[in-house]
Amino acid sequence: MNITIIGSGYVGLVAAVCFADSGNNVLCLDVNKSRIKKLSQGIIPIYEPGLEELALKNIKNKRLTFTSNIKKSVEHGDVQFICVGTPQSEDGSADINYVLSAASNIAKYMNRDKIIVNKSTVPVGSAGKVSQTIKEILEKRNLDIKYSVVSNPEFLREGTALKDFLYPDRVVIGSSDKSSTKVMKDLYKKFIKNSKSFIAMDPISAELTKYAANSLLACRISFINEIANLSELIGADIEEVKRGIGSDSRIGNSFLNAGCGYGGSCFPKDVAALQKLSKDQAGMDLKIIKAATDVNNNQKNILFKKISKRFSGRLKNKSIAIWGLSFKPNTDDMREAPSIDLITKLISKGASINAYDPEATKEAKRVFKGLPIKYKNNKNDCLEGADALVIVTEWDDFKDIDIEKIMNLMNNPIIFDGRNIINSTSINGTQIEYHPIGKPIIA
Ligand code: NAD
Repeated sequence: MNITIIGSGYVGLVAAVCFADSGNNVLCLDVNKSRIKKLSQGIIPIYEPGLEELALKNIKNKRLTFTSNIKKSVEHGDVQFICVGTPQSEDGSADINYVLSAASNIAKYMNRDKIIVNKSTVPVGSAGKVSQTIKEILEKRNLDIKYSVVSNPEFLREGTALKDFLYPDRVVIGSSDKSSTKVMKDLYKKFIKNSKSFIAMDPISAELTKYAANSLLACRISFINEIANLSELIGADIEEVKRGIGSDSRIGNSFLNAGCGYGGSCFPKDVAALQKLSKDQAGMDLKIIKAATDVNNNQKNILFKKISKRFSGRLKNKSIAIWGLSFKPNTDDMREAPSIDLITKLISKGASINAYDPEATKEAKRVFKGLPIKYKNNKNDCLEGADALVIVTEWDDFKDIDIEKIMNLMNNPIIFDGRNIINSTSINGTQIEYHPIGKPIIA
């Protein structure tokens, strides 16, 4: 099948590569011309494990091509996937202007029947808005072409995006048109485990499903973080508590890791968008979700509070080593990363920062532009003369610490572990002072 992917970012590119690899002819459009130029040369602009290899394979066999020519992209695909960004507006709502602009472009150049798929995360009612946008333009063009708009929210996670797309837990399709649902089922046939993993529903329910899923995961993280903060105050160990509750099959272990808060391009904006749409469209305050946001805003400050307390507020000229800048491991994405709040605050108090991230340094230089951060090429270079080491992202590389290097290189062997990734038993009996989240300090 001929497929057009509109928006070649984290979601669009992964979808394009996977659809191409499963035998379709995929053309990717992006308004960012330099991104398209790079992609056409086989340069993959984002870091996602396995993506480059699979993209190059399909570029080589010509099933995956790129363009910034809108007309060409609309003419190509029988199915047009909209995968553009839906950033947070100032009032918390999701900005769907890029989605509507993609829809207008489709309508301007449409010359035969099409299925238009909203893969971007969009507020309830967006499929209707996309449909209306297309209808108005087609009417002006005096054309009677059949089209249907399908909602197909994406659940992939950066860092494991290929695996998530190729082996999804489920594929959700929101459509009121049976033949479009069938086309979507055929398209995903190679990826889904069995027919139960293909969940067809109406578009509004599909749109709400995506926001509800992300909000529930955000709530789990904030829940465990709140219990972690309580654990610290009453002398419990959150890892033990997690073992105790996660082994309950009704609860499970996932999204129950205590840490320094969630960030990323999805949770913060999707949680805010759900609150806003609930208020605007139903006059209803979502109390649990509001609490999850409040807890997370506090949690993103937890490392700064711990560091500040440890140094009695005297952070001027303290040298702080930071391990991890991306919002989570295995991605270079810095959107809403907890490292941003932490580093900005530390610098404002006069601390000097040496930072290392396995993949996000380039992106961090853009995000922290103008801030006096020294970026290092490996984790141990960061440690030289440091008064404290702070682990902000749980990259595998940070799990094993070299006690000798820490003792020899650091000025003070103090570790703040914002992700509880270091095994405390490796600290016991050393001179290292260890500050985890929700567990007793080792000193
Ligand atoms: P992104 O910012 O990485 O990519 C979006 C791309 O769309 C950019 O390259 C941009 O230049 C392009 N674009 C914008 N307007 C365009 C237009 N009119 N025509 C063509 N290209 C256009 O965004 P992303 O992270 O891939 O997210 C895309 C959507 O998917 C969002 O709604 C997001 O919430 C949702 N989502 C993201 C993830 C994730 O992990 N990143 C997971 C699930 C869902």
